Amino acid sequence: MDEEDIAAVVEVLKSDFLTTGPVVGRFEAALAKATDTSHAVVVSSGTAALHAAYHVSGLLPGDEVVTTPLTFAATANAALYLGASVRFVDIQADTGNLDPERIESALSKRTKLIVAVDFAGHPADYDAITAIGRRHDIRVIADAAHSLGARYRGRSVGSLADLTTVSFHPVKPITSGEGGAVLGNHGEWARGIESFRNHGITRDAARLQRDEGPWFYEMQALGFNYRLTDIQCALGLSQLKKLGRFLARRRHIAERYTAAFSHCGALLTPVVRPDVEPGWHLYVVRLAGDPALRRPFFERLRALGLAVQVHYIPVYYHPYYASLGFVRGLCPVAEDFYRRAISLPLFPLMTDAEVDRVINRVLVAVDELL
Ligand SMILES: *Cc1c(COP(=O)(O)O)cnc(C)c1O
Repeated sequence: MDEEDIAAVVEVLKSDFLTTGPVVGRFEAALAKATDTSHAVVVSSGTAALHAAYHVSGLLPGDEVVTTPLTFAATANAALYLGASVRFVDIQADTGNLDPERIESALSKRTKLIVAVDFAGHPADYDAITAIGRRHDIRVIADAAHSLGARYRGRSVGSLADLTTVSFHPVKPITSGEGGAVLGNHGEWARGIESFRNHGITRDAARLQRDEGPWFYEMQALGFNYRLTDIQCALGLSQLKKLGRFLARRRHIAERYTAAFSHCGALLTPVVRPDVEPGWHLYVVRLAGDPALRRPFFERLRALGLAVQVHYIPVYYHPYYASLGFVRGLCPVAEDFYRRAISLPLFPLMTDAEVDRVINRVLVAVDELL
């Protein structure tokens, strides 16, 4: 947060609208412009964005969603909200993204959606994935919670899949405190999400006087309160202006990490596929050797004062998914990725001195343990 962010929020607090006011549309227009898409609809979280995107894609009870297990649980949970089931498909070993070569054999008559996740900010292989979607008449959704501002083959995240969802949680590329959005072209879906985020209520002006009276509104479908406030939109709008700077700083830090660790045989550094500009939401190194050393290595890094983390526990390892019948061994590449992964500190305000400290401490722990 800088002074501009704070001033933008204060301005809304002094204005007439705290929610459903003019800043919502302004944030949406700016998001669409920044992502080269025609439409953006903001909602109260990235999870709500997934729920809304699956809903307007017609996902119904009994349908199936194909997605990756190497993600935050929300990607799969949103399918369960709608009574659909999830089929987890394994990842590419290098990027950690859904592997297009494994998708087709996982499709069934019930498959309604393919949902790719841009793990760590590296866009998935959308040309291959959307070709499969077209061949089978299945819609492709990008969970781009990690990758706002990233690019793939000269195109922006937001325009790579049929619909794209993003998150504005504080750890994500930009924040509105909590928040999310659905992005895409050909905006016929946008009205559906506007309705879904507001209890399915419309206030069709043409009907105001004719049918009932000036108080008229009607609920045409079952929806939710997934609105994003003007307070949050003002913060998001202010943050969006800095996205380019944030991304440049993240890229610089990632490049310094890769320069420092790529010669260190004990660690695998993140891969960038040709013609991809990742968003560098995360910088995930993996142990090249015995994965049993991940835990002592992780604990040593924490003891050295580094706020390391692990992304992600495969979704179907969680007890709730186990209770649905998922068993370990389902996606061996994702499981191996998880066993070896450690995310290093990475955020735009990190100073060069802090980056140096991370590098030195990681190399100390590598010397001690790996
Ligand atoms: C953060 C995240 C979400 C959920 O976003 P929220 O805004 O926290 O609801 C969904 N998918 C992925 C991959 C995420 O990282």
